Amino acid sequence: MSVLLTVLAALIATGACAYHRSSLRTWAIATIAVTLVVGLLTHARATMVVLLIIELLIAVPLLVVPFRRKQISAPLLKMFARVTPKLSATEQTALEAGTVGFEGELFSGKPAWQNLLSQPRPELSAEEKAFLDGPVEQLCGMLDDWQITHELADLPPEVWEFIKKHKFFGMIIPKQYGGLGFSALAHSAVLQKLATMSATAASTVAVPNSLGPAELLLHYGSDEQKNFYLPRLAVGEEIPCFALTGPYAGSDATSIPDYGTVCRQVVDGVETIGMKLNFDKRYITLAPIATVVGLAFRLYDPEHLLGDKEDLGITLALLPRSTPGLEIGRRHFPLNVPFQNGPVRGKDIFAPLSTLIGGPHMAGHGWRMLVECLSVGRAISLPSNATGGVRMAVAGTGAYARMRKQFGLAVARFEGVEEALARIGGLTYATAALSRATAAAVDRGEKPAVPSAIAKYHATEWGRAIAGDAMDVHGGKAVQLGPKNYAGRAWQGVPIAITVEGANIMTRSLMIFGQGAIRCHPYVLKEMQALAIADYHERLNTFDRALFGHIGFGISNAVRSFVLGITGASIGAAAGDAYTRRYYRKLNRYSAALALCADTFMGVLGGKLKFKEKLSARLGDVLSYLYIASAMLKRYEDTGRPEADRPLLAWAFHECMWRTQMALDGAIRNFPVRPVAWLLHVLVFPFGRREVPPSDRLGRRVAAIITAPGEARDRLLEWAYLTPTANNTVGRMNQLLPDVIAAEPVERKFGKAQKAGQFTSRDYAGQLDEAVRAGVIDASEAALLKRVREGVFEFISVDDFNPEELRSAITRNDLKKLADAA
Ligand SMILES: Cc1cc2nc3c(=O)[nH]c(=O)nc-3n(C[C@H](O)[C@H](O)[C@H](O)COP(=O)(O)OP(=O)(O)OC[C@H]3O[C@@H](n4cnc5c(N)ncnc54)[C@H](O)[C@@H]3O)c2cc1C
Repeated sequence: MSVLLTVLAALIATGACAYHRSSLRTWAIATIAVTLVVGLLTHARATMVVLLIIELLIAVPLLVVPFRRKQISAPLLKMFARVTPKLSATEQTALEAGTVGFEGELFSGKPAWQNLLSQPRPELSAEEKAFLDGPVEQLCGMLDDWQITHELADLPPEVWEFIKKHKFFGMIIPKQYGGLGFSALAHSAVLQKLATMSATAASTVAVPNSLGPAELLLHYGSDEQKNFYLPRLAVGEEIPCFALTGPYAGSDATSIPDYGTVCRQVVDGVETIGMKLNFDKRYITLAPIATVVGLAFRLYDPEHLLGDKEDLGITLALLPRSTPGLEIGRRHFPLNVPFQNGPVRGKDIFAPLSTLIGGPHMAGHGWRMLVECLSVGRAISLPSNATGGVRMAVAGTGAYARMRKQFGLAVARFEGVEEALARIGGLTYATAALSRATAAAVDRGEKPAVPSAIAKYHATEWGRAIAGDAMDVHGGKAVQLGPKNYAGRAWQGVPIAITVEGANIMTRSLMIFGQGAIRCHPYVLKEMQALAIADYHERLNTFDRALFGHIGFGISNAVRSFVLGITGASIGAAAGDAYTRRYYRKLNRYSAALALCADTFMGVLGGKLKFKEKLSARLGDVLSYLYIASAMLKRYEDTGRPEADRPLLAWAFHECMWRTQMALDGAIRNFPVRPVAWLLHVLVFPFGRREVPPSDRLGRRVAAIITAPGEARDRLLEWAYLTPTANNTVGRMNQLLPDVIAAEPVERKFGKAQKAGQFTSRDYAGQLDEAVRAGVIDASEAALLKRVREGVFEFISVDDFNPEELRSAITRNDLKKLADAA
């Protein structure tokens, strides 16, 4: 017994030190002291001596740093140099661009919640609020999505004018250049509001404010370029586009075959150094109407007119539309969401060096410029557009499900529909929190490379899930396209957001964990960077520090993961209030599990992990769900811990934890080195998988929130355009919703009498009169039922067309005939 006690005491001391991340020295002192005290007290002298010898054998070589470096770190450094995957220049640039924010804490296995919770609450300025309530509100009132998507396949001229006049294209351009100089949060709010009315308008406004000429000029442009272009871009005098993608380079954008050759050419009688450009770009947003084309190409300098190098690398230029030979103006047709999008081509076009963004010294720096700017734009544009879309799904589907009656009941009351409504409400809560978090990160000056990928992927994927659920809840109403259908086009256009700015499969399988693991990990990047140090001693010292930090980190995560697993994450200090404390503890647990698995996977598979996309996708999912859950908790704190929001928070949180568990389990189960997988399974899931998806009861509460007016629903609908204008069916439905709810008890009385055969009349109006006469309902109740029935009829109606209306005004044959005649 005394032997067992002594061994147990030494193990507990070791475990406690690992759990709390004590230093090696503290561990050695604590473990030796505990072994001595317990050994002496329990008279287990022999055990005590054996344990002390083991402890000293571990502690002494590790604490004597010169010995440790020579005997342990030096051979490991050699091995590490051999197994570390060679990063391509592209990957190196991607890894170095951007900053690390709270996602780094999630990778630490022991998140410092104070770092998240002490961040200031993101707020709009008075000027930004006025813009939302003024020009944005007015613009939303002008958007008729059917006219845009079906009749014109474009925004109407007055909308284009309005957008330019009110500087919607200049939200990110500072005031000194005539732009609006808005915060990222305001930029996001504007896009969200526009997206509730028209994906075409939101995409059109998003592009010039995202990755494109303005963003690139702001960071890298010469003063001359900034002073010329930025004021013109701000007021829409110049319409920009940015052309990177082509037929042979989509996701793998660095492989663009488009090229430029530095050469001399006589221009207006003067010999000018410039570039001969050859390019074939496609899918370029705003290209058909662009007046200035941002172009990415590989630049060669065979005559060494710029310097020694021949292959300068990816380079960015701004070509005016008037550039002779520029082929531009034709359109693609992205899934009936007709924002301007088309190809741009050029063969042996001459462009002077002054067109290079930032001037000739920036030639060859194009990829870095793009990657650095991408994270900022990607954190805002697509997540905001998706968030606007899902907010409108809440408003539209929540109201419709309450109005549409089948089997004598609102369809929202059927459990099957309730399930879909719960997903719509819960995932919208999560998506909104995620969008807000990435916008806030940009406003804090971060370049959130990893969170922007998380936000892009999850906001658009959840947008896809919610759009599908919204369609199902509406049934035929959402299938029949026409001016009355507010859901069909949104559903149709979802794959666009899934594809652009990093197609989602690649974003999930390659980028989130791939970048996150190396960028956010407290030691991996340091170890990799140590390899690049030229001086051997400095290299070894730096590697040694990182390596032993890393080993301690790994042991700590294994202990934390196991301890938090066996205790059901019910111990330890945690942030939050009585309601949310358990949520923070769960996040602590899975943060430790993520850190443990990430280390183990990287340590065992090394460079091969890069090609095990199914494993890294799952670990990326874990990081994403932890990030999203943290963003929701921050939002809950920022909004004053509203009790009314708790069902939404709880639903979305449990969904995230359930998905976290399944992703971790999937990664461990499919890990190819089985003994390692078994060990990980014990450490991460000591009692098996205990997380459960949100309960049906919780789902019912969420469905109730989104189908009736209330403060939690209002917060979900923040920045949605709900003014009941003629062009806004969902706004008008929401205006009617209180009456629909007030009519429900009256309908029950009326329905009961109807079922009992109390009325002789066959039509509704006649039955209402009879009901009033019989005292079943009073006159004001009858008026309410009549008003609601008429109102609801408008919303359950669909469009029908004269067959001629559905024919395209001009066919390919007509065009061919015109061309032949010409
Ligand atoms: C409507 C629209 C607007 C656009 N606007 C612009 C614009 O303004 N400017 C511009 O330059 N480009 C633009 N694009 C291009 C867009 O960024 C590309 O479509 C995108 O990069 C994907 O390229 P791709 O379509 O050729 O798909 P591909 O690269 O052919 O990919 C096909 C599939 O393979 C997957 N995949 C590829 N590589 C990997 C990998 N390593 N691991 C896992 N999966 C992988 C992708 O995720 C995708 O699912 C736009 C595209 C569209 C559709």
